[in-house]
Amino acid sequence: MHHFVYKNDDLYCEDVSVSHVAEQVGTPFYLYSYSTIRTHFGVFENAFNGLDHLTCFSVKSNSNLAILRLLALEGGGADIVSGGELFRAIRAGIRPDKIVYSGVGKTRKDIEIALKSDILMFNVESDQELQTLNDIAKDIGCKATIAMRINPDVESKTHPYIVTGFSENKFGIQIEDSLNTYALAKHLKHIDVKGISCHIGSQLTEIDPFVEALRKLKELLEELKKMGLDIEFLNLGGGLGITYNDEKPPHPLEYAKALKETIGENRFTLILEPGRVIIGNAGILVTRVLYTKSTKNKRFIIVDAGMNDLIRPALYNSFHAVQPVKMTHSEMFAADLVGPVCETGDFLARDRKMPPFEPGDLVAIMSAGAYSFSMASNYNSRPRPAEVMVKEKLFSIIRSREVYEDLISGEAIPEFLG
Ligand SMILES: *Cc1c(COP(=O)(O)O)cnc(C)c1O
Repeated sequence: MHHFVYKNDDLYCEDVSVSHVAEQVGTPFYLYSYSTIRTHFGVFENAFNGLDHLTCFSVKSNSNLAILRLLALEGGGADIVSGGELFRAIRAGIRPDKIVYSGVGKTRKDIEIALKSDILMFNVESDQELQTLNDIAKDIGCKATIAMRINPDVESKTHPYIVTGFSENKFGIQIEDSLNTYALAKHLKHIDVKGISCHIGSQLTEIDPFVEALRKLKELLEELKKMGLDIEFLNLGGGLGITYNDEKPPHPLEYAKALKETIGENRFTLILEPGRVIIGNAGILVTRVLYTKSTKNKRFIIVDAGMNDLIRPALYNSFHAVQPVKMTHSEMFAADLVGPVCETGDFLARDRKMPPFEPGDLVAIMSAGAYSFSMASNYNSRPRPAEVMVKEKLFSIIRSREVYEDLISGEAIPEFLG
C-alpha cells in the first residue's frame, strides 16, 4: 500500500502532483510520502501487538533526518551500523535506549561515543570486538550491554550480495563457535550479556528462513541459560522483502504470526530491525528525459538521474518499475532507461516496455525509498539530488540539492602546488 497514484492521468504523491514538485525543486529528486511511511511502520508495529518487542528501523536503508524523526515520533528505535548513523539517530530524536549497534567493523572512536550515549546494546560480531568493547568500557568506567550476532547458517533465497546469514558471509559469529564467545563474554567485567541477534539477509520473500533462524536462536538461548546467562533480548534483524515487480512477500501480519507461534511462551523481548519493508515503497526517484536515441537494435532514453543517484540496478541488477509522471495511453516500446554517468553499468532499467518518452518528459522510478538516496554518491562530480517529503497537500524539502561548492567541501590544494 502506498500513496503514489494517478489522478486524471497525473501522478500524485498523496495530494501533491509530482510534476508540481518537479517545477519547484528541479530534477532529479527523491519524493517520499509521509502517510505511506507512517502506515508501513504502524502496520509492522501493530502486527507484533501482544508480544514484548522493540522495532528498530534500519538507518542504513534511509538515513534522512526527517524520516528518522517521523519514525521517532511513532515510537521507533534505530538499528545503526556506524558512528555517523548514531549521530543522525540521536539528532533526529530517537531515544538512545532504543538504539542497537551492529556491524563487523566498529571503530574505537565510534564504540566510545556509543557507550557514552548509553545506547541499548551492541550486536557484537567477533571475539576481538568483544575484547575491544570491554577495554573501552573499562576506560570509561561503565558496562557495555551486548548481544552476540550469530550467523545461524540458514539459506535465504535472495541476491548473493545481500545474503548475510550463511556461513560463507563475513557477518556474525558462527553459531557453533558462539558458546565459546559467550563464555568469554561472561568473564569480562565490563560486558553485560543480554541478548542474541542475527540478520539473515535482505529482500526475503519467504517466511521459512526467519522461522528457522528464530528456532536456532531459541535453542542457543536454552544453552546459554545452562551457562547461567540471563538472555533478555532476541534480535531477529530485518530482511522482510517488498514488491518491486511481481514478488509476493509475506504481509507483516503473516510474518509476525509465524514468529509469535515460534516464540510460544518464551519470555524475552523480540527486537526487529526492518528497513526496506518500511521505507522501500514509500519513496520514488523523479527524473527528466534529456535525450532519446536509437542504435540498430536498441532504443535509449537518457535521463538526468544516474547510477550515482540510484545504484541498485547497477549493483544488484535490481528491478525498479518505470512510470510516466503524465500518463500517455500510447503504445509501449522496449527501451533502456540510462543516466548521464560515463559507465556502461549506468542504467535504471534495461529492455523494459515503456511509453515513448520524449525529451522533457518526467519519469518516476518506483520503489526507491530504501537503499537509494542512502547509497547515492558524487561520482562524475554530480551533486546529489534533493529529497522531498509530502504530507497530504504539503511538501517540504528535507534535503537540498547539493551545489558545486558541496562537491569540493573539505578539499584543499597544498601549498607546494601554488
Ligand atoms: C541492513 C540491515 C537491516 C535491514 O535490512 P532490511 O532488509 O532493509 O530490512 C537490519 N539489520 C542489520 C544488521 C542490517 O545490516
